Amino acid sequence: MSSVGPFEVAVVGGGLVGAAVAFGLRSLGPKLALLDEGDVAHRAARANFGLIWVQGKGAGLPQYAAWTQRSAAEWPRLANELLRETGIDVALAQPGGVHVCLSAAELERRVAMLDALRAQPGFERYSVEVLERAQLALRLPGLGSDIAGGTYCPLDGHCNPLKLLRALHSTAIRAGAVYRADHAVMKIAPRGTGFVLDTSGGRIVADKIVLAAGLGNAALAPMIGIEAPVRPNQGQIIALERVPRFLALPLSTIRQTDEGTVLIGDSREERGFDDLCTTEVIAAMAARALRVFPVLQRARVVRAWSGLRVMTPDTFPIYEQSATHPGAFVATCHSGVTLAAAHAYALAPAVAAGVLPESFRPFAVARFDTSNAQTGIGVGEAPRR
Ligand SMILES: Cc1cc2nc3c(=O)[nH]c(=O)nc-3n(C[C@H](O)[C@H](O)[C@H](O)COP(=O)(O)OP(=O)(O)OC[C@H]3O[C@@H](n4cnc5c(N)ncnc54)[C@H](O)[C@@H]3O)c2cc1C
Repeated sequence: MSSVGPFEVAVVGGGLVGAAVAFGLRSLGPKLALLDEGDVAHRAARANFGLIWVQGKGAGLPQYAAWTQRSAAEWPRLANELLRETGIDVALAQPGGVHVCLSAAELERRVAMLDALRAQPGFERYSVEVLERAQLALRLPGLGSDIAGGTYCPLDGHCNPLKLLRALHSTAIRAGAVYRADHAVMKIAPRGTGFVLDTSGGRIVADKIVLAAGLGNAALAPMIGIEAPVRPNQGQIIALERVPRFLALPLSTIRQTDEGTVLIGDSREERGFDDLCTTEVIAAMAARALRVFPVLQRARVVRAWSGLRVMTPDTFPIYEQSATHPGAFVATCHSGVTLAAAHAYALAPAVAAGVLPESFRPFAVARFDTSNAQTGIGVGEAPRR
């Protein structure tokens, strides 16, 4: 079989993780390949809620809180570079964000969770304000009368995630990188100091590879000697029609997009690869959203969809270079919108250098104790972004 390459780096997966890494490696130009599956793929990158979210992150792994803060801080640079290089405005806004608690009990649990989070040794502190209903209503005009309160973090924000994906792809392609859709990688074999990838679209040869195939990493990573036990976690989203701007801040479960539509999304369910919306979950999400903003009663639903989060047993990312196949990396995470800037400006240069710095060690797979695996079904309270 003839082959294409050798590339200096082949990134496997053109979702948000792979595209952000490719953005960070775009100076390689034609020596960079970005390989993607076809339209059959599960792509969280095209189904997500678009939050850049810091508050509440890092319980159990304080380094994750620091990683998230770093990415949120680098997001303006990312948005500016994407705009400058492609003309695509990804609609970044970081006005802070709110997590609304419907009942006093929810608020109490939220505060206890945040206290425990901040009490962790090594936790890089950030400000989170606890707001009683009256204070919250000042920030959220139209707030429902029976909402107990919420928490506000000035680091939170949101963007248009579809424009983000498009812009990341566009920068890499403009820089000369080779993008190949319909190139699902099926087999990885070492060759010399590099790798041969057998794909559905032909053979690709590369010196280094980055497995950023989302849920596909579960099957691919063992080929380079790493177990990446990612599983799907379903989230459903409702989109309402455009309404006059009423929401200046994103909530963890409701946000008004740059285009004026309103998105509601606070479900998480363990349903395997089932990606169908269900009436019960959509109804429960709508009911909660109406309690938060009764004014939404008048807005029409235009569509609803579901997507599969890429979830590790402890919900934190995996970044690792293979010990048995040096030059082969795994990068997989939930919160790929939030972490896009960290992937572009910290992970990609580490891949280029061929060494993951010590700061990546907490994200190695050795940490997994599967007895800690989180499962659960729920709507509301604590969506994991
Ligand atoms: C409902 C929902 C809401 C979310 N909300 C947020 C949010 O508000 N904020 C946030 O930060 N994150 C959010 N996320 C998470 C975010 O979307 C993901 O973390 C991110 O998309 C993961 O990126 P990825 O590239 O790892 O995976 P994906 O985006 O799923 O992309 C994987 C890519 O790999 C390709 N692929 C798979 N197998 C192969 C193979 N064998 N060969 C080649 N290519 C392959 C696929 O074609 C696909 O393009 C949400 C996710 C969901 C589902």
